[in-house]
Amino acid sequence: RRALQQQTDWELFDTAWLNPAAEPYDLEDALRQALRNQEFSLDYQPQFDLQSGACIGAEALLRWRHPRCGQVSPARFVPLLEETGLIVPVGEWVLRSACRQAAHWHDQGHSGMRVAVNLAMIQFEEASLVRMVSSALADSGLPPNALELEITESVAMNDQERVMATLHELRELGVSLAIDDFGTGYSSLAYLKNFPVDKVKIDQSFVRGIDRDPRDRAIVQAIIGMARALDLVTVAEGVESAAHLEFLHKHGCRHGQGYHLGRPLPPEQLEFKH
Ligand code: C2E
Ligand code: MG
Ligand code: MG
Ligand code: MG
Repeated sequence: RRALQQQTDWELFDTAWLNPAAEPYDLEDALRQALRNQEFSLDYQPQFDLQSGACIGAEALLRWRHPRCGQVSPARFVPLLEETGLIVPVGEWVLRSACRQAAHWHDQGHSGMRVAVNLAMIQFEEASLVRMVSSALADSGLPPNALELEITESVAMNDQERVMATLHELRELGVSLAIDDFGTGYSSLAYLKNFPVDKVKIDQSFVRGIDRDPRDRAIVQAIIGMARALDLVTVAEGVESAAHLEFLHKHGCRHGQGYHLGRPLPPEQLEFKH
């Protein structure tokens, strides 16, 4: 009966790909099973200091391999994890795994390496978030200053006061905070002003055009200048070419990450050089 049940689930799931209207419900089921069945893994994308060329850390990126459909894009399943609240248990798994991995790098002698973990805004609705982060650090033995939390937002924030209080508590733990995808969606200037963050990640949609579109160049330069004036570190996402790199370096962007520097890879394949 169990096998039959499972088959029915897969059939529903397959139909879901063909019928978008039926998708959320069935994908949700599949995602619920994914955590139990250990179908999630993490890739790590290296981040570099653009002045020295040194690898300074890596961003943990969630991967899902469905037993029958294969690799599913995060663009497809992360929003659903957020909508369903499943990002809370999955996010805890991500954080704990990433802290353990980074502690392992430290043990291997890569002592300066930091790990960046994406946090969805809805994870801030959990009263236990700060305790969870501090327990992940304690359990892994990772020093708090080697953990960076990237705040990504897909929906408007409900309770800004509470989020702010939580961000302050996280900083008191000694972890650093970055605004992800800056300049797009809900990642607004008000966040730069009000949030106790250390870093700004320039969204790849702006970086992509810097070798050909003067508007992208102007925007990227302005973000770098503004971040400097606010004493924040800039990270460029989506560095895909030598031309991107040259522009960013010339204009004083501090850190970079992208296919030109290093692709996201499973931890055993990660290279600390480019
Ligand atoms: P993000 O945090 O902005 O991550 C950067 C995305 O850009 C990653 O996509 C990465 O693979 C991709 N990327 C890196 N370098 C380049 C490049 O040079 N060119 C291009 N075109 N893309 C590049 P990915 O892995 O598909 O993740 C997509 C998004 O899913 C992430 O965007 C993040 O918002 C979300 N996500 C991934 N893992 C997690 C997680 O553990 N928790 C949460 N809440 N969200 C996650
Ligand atoms: Mg990110
Ligand atoms: Mg981003
Ligand atoms: Mg993103």
